[in-house]
Amino acid sequence: MIINQKKCVACGNCVAVCPMSAIYIDTETNRANINNDVCVECGICYRGMSKEKLSPVFVRSVRKTSKLFLFRFEPEPDICPTSAFEINELEMPRLIRQIFSDPVIEHKSTGIKGRGTEEVKTNDVSLRVNTGEVGYTIEFGRPGVGVRFSDIQEMTRTFSKIGVTFEKNNPVTHLMTNLSTGDLRTDILDEKILSAIVEIKTDINMVEKVLATVREVNKRIDTVTVIGISTRCNDEGEDNILSPLLDKLQYPHFRAKTNIGLGRITNRIEQN
Ligand code: SF4
Ligand code: SF4
Repeated sequence: MIINQKKCVACGNCVAVCPMSAIYIDTETNRANINNDVCVECGICYRGMSKEKLSPVFVRSVRKTSKLFLFRFEPEPDICPTSAFEINELEMPRLIRQIFSDPVIEHKSTGIKGRGTEEVKTNDVSLRVNTGEVGYTIEFGRPGVGVRFSDIQEMTRTFSKIGVTFEKNNPVTHLMTNLSTGDLRTDILDEKILSAIVEIKTDINMVEKVLATVREVNKRIDTVTVIGISTRCNDEGEDNILSPLLDKLQYPHFRAKTNIGLGRITNRIEQN
C-alpha cells in the first residue's frame, strides 16, 4: 500500500483505520506514512474509507486559512479527502502478505478467499476428520495482532516433532517445503500477515499432547493463538469421547459449530 505524498493533507483520518497501527503522521514532512515492515497489505485503508477527490492544494489552503481565524477544517472521520491511498503491484515474497490478509484475494492453492480454508466446517462432506480422529485449527494473529511466518513455522516445526498430520488442503501446508520437519519456505519467514490457520489432525489419544504443545509454543512466539478442536459425533449427534476428555483436562469448551451433512461428499479417498 502506498500513500501518495503529493495528495496527502495529513488530516490523520486513516491512522485509526489500520488494524496493524502501521499508519502514522510524519511530523517532519507533515504527511501520512506507512511502516512497511508492519503493514500486512490488507487493503482496509484503501477500501474502508470513503474517497473524496478534493484537490490537495485546495484542502491545504482552506485548512491554512481556517487556522488564521482559529477555525478548523477537518474532513468527516471516515473519509480520505484527497484519495491519497494507492494500491501497488506486489511481488513475492511481499505478495504473500496480501494473499493472507486481504479478504477479497483468492488463495490460488485452495481457490478460497480470506484465510484460504474451509477448516472442518465442511467436514460432513469433505471428511477431513474421521471417526476416532480429532481435528485442530490453530489460528494466529487475531484480533488485530498479526503474525510472522517465522512464528507460524515455530509451531509447525514443533508439531512435526510430535507426529501430527497436516491438512493437505490448507494454504499454510502449501507453503511447507518439508512436511516431516514443518519447515516453511525460507523467503516468506519475515513476512507479516493479518492471520493464518494451521490445520492438523491426530488420533484421539494425542489431544493432551497437542494442547500442551500449543500452550508451550505460544509462550515463545510474538503473537496470539486460538485453538479450535473438532470430532465426529455418533449417530445420535452426541460427542461422548472428546468432550469428556476435554473436561478431564480442564479445558473449558463449547460446541460452536455443528455440521449436519446435507452436501455431496467430496473426498473420494475417504469414501473408499
Ligand atoms: S486520510 Fe488521506 S489525506 Fe488524511 S492523512 Fe490519511 S492519507 Fe492523508
Ligand atoms: S494495507 Fe492494511 S496494514 Fe497496510 S496500512 Fe493499510 S490498513 Fe494498515
